[in-house]
Amino acid sequence: QCAAVCPTGAIVVKNDTQAIWNVISDPETKVIVQIAPAVRVGIDQSLGEENGHNVMGKIIAALRRMGFDEIFDTTTGADLTVLEEANELLERIERKDTLPLFTSCCPAWVKYVENNHPELISQVSSCRSPMEMFGAVLKEHYSHSRRKVIVVAVMPCTAKKEEAARDELKRDGIPDVDYVLTTRELIQMVKESGIVFNELEPEAVDMPFGVSSGAGVIFGVTGGVTEAVIRRLADDKSTTSLRSIAFNGVRGMAGVKEAEIPFGENYLKVAIVSGLKNAEDLIIAMKSGEKHYDFVEVMACPTGCVGGAGQPFARNEEKAIRGKGLYEADRLSSIKRSEENPLIMSLYSGVLKGKVHQLLHVDYIGKE
Ligand code: SF4
Repeated sequence: QCAAVCPTGAIVVKNDTQAIWNVISDPETKVIVQIAPAVRVGIDQSLGEENGHNVMGKIIAALRRMGFDEIFDTTTGADLTVLEEANELLERIERKDTLPLFTSCCPAWVKYVENNHPELISQVSSCRSPMEMFGAVLKEHYSHSRRKVIVVAVMPCTAKKEEAARDELKRDGIPDVDYVLTTRELIQMVKESGIVFNELEPEAVDMPFGVSSGAGVIFGVTGGVTEAVIRRLADDKSTTSLRSIAFNGVRGMAGVKEAEIPFGENYLKVAIVSGLKNAEDLIIAMKSGEKHYDFVEVMACPTGCVGGAGQPFARNEEKAIRGKGLYEADRLSSIKRSEENPLIMSLYSGVLKGKVHQLLHVDYIGKE
């Protein structure tokens, strides 16, 4: 058993590779896999690739050869998160509820609030993380399969293993994501399978969930969630507006960033924090009245998920190169905004009809 170190408190992290080989080899089981944004830029020399290069197409090709039945991109789940989180923020503003709204896609941050600031849990978004939203949609979509359905998520993150096992995220006692594989575990499985990764021809994800936006892909880097939500909320949908959002202070690897975004007649004040020490300092500043925000994005790992504990080790400058790889993927994407993704709209009129709260939101019980 290989152990990995998690920066967020869980010292020994379970290795799930053997369990996944077992489910793949079972003909009675349909194994579906989703791949998080940061993973595609985290494959390095250990598979003959260059850190920061987007090798999503090769990851898909490798997973297909390893025997996964259906392969999807977690950015589809991120598009759902953008729409739900933007709605939640608008509703809070309209109801004059307590602000800021804190993001909820980082499970280590959610745990931190539960353990250290339970008084703030009601301000943490009720949105499931992209991994969990997509897991629920996949389980629902394939619920009539004659085979047992297992959902695997390839994540840059060790804390996602604990998130997937949380009781609040189970439906009828069954998790929507059955196994989380870190980027490092994926690399291990590719090596075990004997696949020559750097010689693979890139392949595309499967249908019917094969469409996602650039807004979803930047979730993997600090500031990405905020930028995606602002794109959704902006009245002006032009390319100039996209550019001004990007250069309004939301990008860059700094541990704390602040931005003021034009919103109706006023401004939205946002803060983007990576690293839990920075989050704690920000909470203290807000409690003292020194700072006020409408929306706060928190990622526990410095630089966001590109620097997650499940990724191959990287120095800060290498994490920044991974971030650039995600912005480049966004730049090349033909769909820039989550609400312009036609798949998402069809999900709302299909599998999500009458089930938005059940499949896309979570009620955290709070402090343990
Ligand atoms: Fe996981 Fe770190 Fe990303 Fe949080 S910031 S979701 S702990 S990889």
